[in-house]
Amino acid sequence: SYIVETRQLSYRYRATTAPALENVDLLVEPGTTLGLVGESGSGKSTLIRGMCGLLPTPPGTVRYQDRAVSDWLRHDGRAFRRQNQIVFQNPASSFDPRMTIATALAEPVKALERRSPPTSELVDRLEQVGLNAGVLGRHPRQLSGGQVQRIAIARALLVGPRVLYADEPTSALDVSVQAQVLNLLMDLQRSLGLTLVVVSHDLGLVSRVCDQIAVMLSGSIVEAGPTAEVLGDP
Ligand code: ADP
Ligand code: ADP
Repeated sequence: SYIVETRQLSYRYRATTAPALENVDLLVEPGTTLGLVGESGSGKSTLIRGMCGLLPTPPGTVRYQDRAVSDWLRHDGRAFRRQNQIVFQNPASSFDPRMTIATALAEPVKALERRSPPTSELVDRLEQVGLNAGVLGRHPRQLSGGQVQRIAIARALLVGPRVLYADEPTSALDVSVQAQVLNLLMDLQRSLGLTLVVVSHDLGLVSRVCDQIAVMLSGSIVEAGPTAEVLGDP
């Protein structure tokens, strides 16, 4: 069975504009890496927002673990949020510049679990993303883009996700750092058994690391399947 499913998912930001999503059917198998590709404006970000319960979508059009996301949010919202985490494109805008990294890392755990994670837990997660305790007292502006993106990943891991969504996780980074961050995501996916959904406009990039690819165009999925099949199609 599938961990995330969308069925005929449509979404409009405004009644007068074209729909951002139109009848999207997407099935995500647990433990896979899915690359969601397509040109800018094709609906990728809107789709992952829908999948993580961040859009008002009709009941039953998005399901997680065989249960409607609308139902999760009504009865088990915190469990759903813990299990579905997003890492955004621009690391700098993901963090309040006035907060130390220690405070920023602890925020989602405090909000979702009503406890302050011990420093040892923060340090363990930092090590998992290749950083050490030295960054805890720093502020985001004192760190590189790659370091801040690693911290965003550590922050997502702290709440214990099963599905990790990464929206253009590397496109704001220097080319030399992009492969490192992508490799880190793949390593974590494998070692933790996560389901990873990576949004990118770069088909070459995701095809190197994803098992499955879905191609979006104008709010629809125009092609989906195992990476080799999608790339092999003429
Ligand atoms: P991406 O292509 O990575 O989704 P964009 O640069 O298109 O990013 O959008 C950046 C932000 O602007 C997002 O929060 C998105 O929701 C918002 N946005 C995009 N298009 C529009 C629009 N037509 N009207 C209002 N907000 C928009
Ligand atoms: P992508 O992630 O593939 O770049 P988006 O999901 O960001 O695509 O955008 C899909 C469509 O929805 C685009 O036409 C975009 O302009 C529009 N859009 C995105 N965010 C908003 C928003 N907050 N308000 C209005 N329109 C938006």
